[in-house]
Amino acid sequence: MRTTKIQEGRRCPKCGRIENQRNAGYNKSGTQRCICNFCNYKYTLNPKAREYSEEVKQTAIKIYYSGVSGRGVGKVLHMSKANVYNWLKKSGEDVDKSED
Ligand SMILES: [Zn+2]
Repeated sequence: MRTTKIQEGRRCPKCGRIENQRNAGYNKSGTQRCICNFCNYKYTLNPKAREYSEEVKQTAIKIYYSGVSGRGVGKVLHMSKANVYNWLKKSGEDVDKSED
């Protein structure tokens, strides 16, 4: 009997397979590590670094331009201000981080 184990959220970043991604312990911060059975690539599952939608991103930028500080935006949207600065930087904004 052939068993193919598929666990949600597990996908090898190298070969893209989702089958047979085995546990490979945890890293220092307690994040689950996985290893791909096909190419032996090790990677970390990262549930903490959530992907934000384009909508959230646009909202963050909008709030920032309404005069709220990067830190303030982070507070409102419950995310790290580094996130906000990242988006602003990517959108071509020259971000002034001296507010902290
Ligand atoms: Zn792989």
